[in-house]
Amino acid sequence: MQAMLTLDALKQEFEAGHIDTVLACQVDMQGRLMGKRFHAADFIGHAVQETHSCVYLLATDLEMHTVEGYESASWSRGYGDYIMKPDLATLRRVPWLEGTAMVLCDVLDHHTRKPVAHAPRALLQQQVARLAAMGMLPMMATELEYFLFEQSYREIQAAGFRGMRLLTPYNADYNINLTNREEAVNRAIRNGLYGAGIPVECTKGEASAGQGEINIRYDHALRTADHHAIVKDACKTIAWSRGCAITFMAKWDDAAAGSSAHIHQSLWSLDGQTALFQDEKAEYGMSTLMRQYLAGLLKYADDITCFLAPYINSYKRFQAGTFAPTKAVWSPDNRTAGYRLCGIDTKGVRVECRVGGADLNPHLALAAQLAAGMAGIEEKLELEAAFSGDAYHAEGGREIPKTLRAALQKLDASVMLRKAFGDKVVDHYVHAAAWEQTEYDRRVTDWEVQRGFDRA
Ligand code: ADP
Repeated sequence: MQAMLTLDALKQEFEAGHIDTVLACQVDMQGRLMGKRFHAADFIGHAVQETHSCVYLLATDLEMHTVEGYESASWSRGYGDYIMKPDLATLRRVPWLEGTAMVLCDVLDHHTRKPVAHAPRALLQQQVARLAAMGMLPMMATELEYFLFEQSYREIQAAGFRGMRLLTPYNADYNINLTNREEAVNRAIRNGLYGAGIPVECTKGEASAGQGEINIRYDHALRTADHHAIVKDACKTIAWSRGCAITFMAKWDDAAAGSSAHIHQSLWSLDGQTALFQDEKAEYGMSTLMRQYLAGLLKYADDITCFLAPYINSYKRFQAGTFAPTKAVWSPDNRTAGYRLCGIDTKGVRVECRVGGADLNPHLALAAQLAAGMAGIEEKLELEAAFSGDAYHAEGGREIPKTLRAALQKLDASVMLRKAFGDKVVDHYVHAAAWEQTEYDRRVTDWEVQRGFDRA
């Protein structure tokens, strides 16, 4: 059975009674799928052309607040509509939902019909187009980690997010026997994604109790980001359907490891045949182009942190000795560095950015990585010497901003991102980060009360 569908194939599946529902989805600022469920007859007859969504979908926080202060969406501007234009290249079956197909949509301005610049998918498409104009194709992969719980989302919420029980009780890193116990969920995820046309490689146990990782084969940047958003949606839905829960929080418990979304990246010729990062005669098999790209990632590491770590919680992950990095330095096959050189001396020579958490928005994160890398190429930057040893405990080295407050100041001040994304887009995401910070600043946490109630 074909996983990806053409419109004709969808029509046939509808007429045969196999598909009756089409999800039309856009990707929101948090990387979630937002949209509508169409009866297949209506989708085929009408919505396939376009449908509409409220502009606030690109101006909310995690809790869907109507956040004040955005230029693009506000009470004073009346919260009108965007156009959701289905991208039929993404039309696919959704095996984990009965009789259902899905299509991702581009978000267009209602009046000009041009892409909305701060829409995550548009932002990534724009950076991919810039690279294409330079004759290059970005191939990327994201490796998502998550924690799996044996209670349902409803039970966990009803218990006030206390007493969560992990499905595996201790370190299950590469452990087959322990992860056998998670197969009811993980096998359904792998097979579901395969049936949706997502090239799933594997799942594996991870180092913290209850933690797992899912790998999807590398692909063109836009496809990889689309896959990432769909994978998260699938994982949560499949876990829910089995009475379990999955979280992609960057750090759900300070005693546990964090969950990351490592980003592998390499540049190729437009026909996908020549690995532009490879130079067989050079050190590590790295071409000059790759050295410049990597130098860009390092020079602009501060500028792009907000897109790798968008929430207050994201920054709790950056702890020494946890496999999450604390420094933006590069190093050959070294998991203590923020940027790890992989595929040394092969056609697959690439850089793995280890900074981002599983809570990042894939379209924004990939767009920011490409913008920084491209700046490195344009500026013909020299790559600093490789770091070697334990980056956590070594003296010196470029620290990753350790708070959202610090990262949002770097984003606001980024000349590189303002040039690559435009001022309005940067201002939009600075506002999102500033709102997140303000919301946190006025909250009293459990930790503060437990610590100070009696003792203060
Ligand atoms: P592991 O080290 O876990 O065995 P791999 O070395 O196969 O995994 O690759 C890790 C990730 O890097 C995978 O998600 C894979 O799809 C991706 N990857 C492999 N080659 C490239 C490449 N040339 N460019 C970008 N990503 C790649």
